[in-house]
Amino acid sequence: MTADIIEAKKLKDLSPVFGNLSFNDHEQIVFCNDKKTGLKAIIGIHNTTLGPALGGTRMWNYKNEAEALQDVLRLSRGMTYKSAITGLNLGGGKAVIIGDAKTQKNDALMRRFGQFVDSLSGKYITAEDVGMETRDMDIIREVTPHVTGISESKGGAGNPSPITAYGVYMGMKAAAKYKFGTENLEDKTILVQGIGHVGETLVDLATKEGAKVIINDINAEQLERVSKKYGVTIYSDLDIYGLDVDIYAPCALGATINDNTIDRLKAKVIAGAANNQLQDEIKHGRILREKGIAYAPDFLINAGGIINVYAELVGYDKSEIKSKTENIYNTTLEIFKLADKEEITTYQAAFNIAQARIDAKNKELS
Ligand code: NAD
Repeated sequence: MTADIIEAKKLKDLSPVFGNLSFNDHEQIVFCNDKKTGLKAIIGIHNTTLGPALGGTRMWNYKNEAEALQDVLRLSRGMTYKSAITGLNLGGGKAVIIGDAKTQKNDALMRRFGQFVDSLSGKYITAEDVGMETRDMDIIREVTPHVTGISESKGGAGNPSPITAYGVYMGMKAAAKYKFGTENLEDKTILVQGIGHVGETLVDLATKEGAKVIINDINAEQLERVSKKYGVTIYSDLDIYGLDVDIYAPCALGATINDNTIDRLKAKVIAGAANNQLQDEIKHGRILREKGIAYAPDFLINAGGIINVYAELVGYDKSEIKSKTENIYNTTLEIFKLADKEEITTYQAAFNIAQARIDAKNKELS
């Protein structure tokens, strides 16, 4: 190891938060610890220039705390740009709870987490993410008003996943229009990786349009059920990335486009729901562009859910939610055109627009 690498490692070991590569000028990181319920959570508030930091809570069985911290830093940053490009008056935040959602989640844990959210007085507003359900948000609502995605029967906008899937579908159609000259997905082969809340609805929408859908998931029961319900093919081989498909839709976890997978990709379009699909946004975004793979930026096309939960705060009705989500089609097409014009990646094109909105607000405030 060279002296500078040793120095960088030392610094990272000594500063696991501020020295973390994913720490990107975050405003506040809150570590939530409660012995009684066993709660270990981290709330990441990346930026509140445009409004309160809204973003879901993920409950996941992280290998270690460093992995959880890394995830919350990346996810909360992504939320800042997602809300900014979608034109919402929201900042970026996200929370992670360390633990197995199937075996370690209970009402006391949810309430305790809600109290921590409440202690931030609305600077952070939570919602669902992987491992969380609408019912969990209803429990959190018992102890804090700073939660969205609660049941319609309790005055909320309900589960955001179907509208997220609809937005992804719009982004996918725009990417198809750009790449194949038609937005029609009929006879297109689409690999949906992760058939959970969002992935399953995407399978539904794509099959209704006549696409040939292939599904992949680590949950065998879910695969069987979805395969039977929609008549779609299961692919459980580990090397799903080398599959010869038209469209790859990552709808599980992030960073699936990385140094190990990118050279194997045969898909011509990438459009999915997962947050932070590119492990390294600059490098992997550039390689996709060089390979001619049309990448619909995740934080742009998976914004249906945030539009849906934002509705709870500002009082949009269902038709406004739908039309704002449908507009993802137009914005995605514009991003492809802008990226070509400026010879930059689609990630960068979308990022630049989001950052410009934040910069303008900062200027107005100063
Ligand atoms: P979910 O937990 O309901 O579904 C995720 C699915 O992915 C599960 O079926 C799980 O078994 C599967 N999975 C996990 N690891 C996998 C792997 N290595 N390979 C294959 N499958 C795997 O989550 P969701 O709500 O459907 O969200 C999916 C993704 O979309 C997440 O990255 C989430 O952050 C993102 N997202 C969701 C929403 C929303 O409204 N739910 C909004 C924006 C972004």
